[in-house]
Amino acid sequence: MRKKIVAGNWKMNLDYAEGISLFSEIVNMVRDEQKGEQLAVICAPFIHLNSLSKLGGTTVRIGAQNCHQNESGAFTGEISAKMIKSVGCEYVIIGHSERRQYFAESDELLAAKTSAALKNNLIPIFCIGETLDERNNGSYFDVIKTQLTGGVFGLSAEDFSKVVLAYEPVWAIGTGLTATSEQAQEVHAYIRKEIAAKYGEELAEKTTILYGGSCNPKNAAELFAQKDIDGGLIGGASLKSRDFVDIVKTFNS
Ligand code: PEP
Repeated sequence: MRKKIVAGNWKMNLDYAEGISLFSEIVNMVRDEQKGEQLAVICAPFIHLNSLSKLGGTTVRIGAQNCHQNESGAFTGEISAKMIKSVGCEYVIIGHSERRQYFAESDELLAAKTSAALKNNLIPIFCIGETLDERNNGSYFDVIKTQLTGGVFGLSAEDFSKVVLAYEPVWAIGTGLTATSEQAQEVHAYIRKEIAAKYGEELAEKTTILYGGSCNPKNAAELFAQKDIDGGLIGGASLKSRDFVDIVKTFNS
């Protein structure tokens, strides 16, 4: 049985008090409604992480949205995986398309960040996905294979087994355009096939692959019903407690 995860990505939203308030609502609602084996995770800005990890307990797990690849040193303004772990986080998003696009994060850099996360016992949620041009010109399988090869396929099988993948077509992030369940399933099946070719069938079957891109309470059930989709990475809808918890609940319905 693969781990089912619904992870919220708050991005650069919510000041400290707003974050505590939204998170407290989410924890209470998830506690009341969580029945199955699914995990709820909130990936918050750095300023929230310490407080949220104490409030969330085992009901809602906490993740960061980025980390530096080095353990410590003269990198003004950066936060290391070790620091993130020290405040009780379990997850860290690596390679979100906004980091790739606005901060020019390369596959090589993302591989180093992934290794830093794993070394510090954080679970990387490693994001991959094609742009609209790459979707339209039919190169999306190649793009995804390149991101996998450069970002995570250098890991040992043992390390790779700890990674969660998130397929997030860039054209669907924050746009209201969701991949159809067929489009998403096609890519998830491709990703699993590539994992099997690299690490074998057993590990491929155990790998959790999330879908992200304008996922909401209305489309989550159909997306999550697909054979190779094991949950979601949720941006906009994770900023509304009811919407986020309704998506978490989808696994119970
Ligand atoms: C994301 O930022 O990872 C994301 C999927 O955003 P949204 O749900 O808003 O499209």
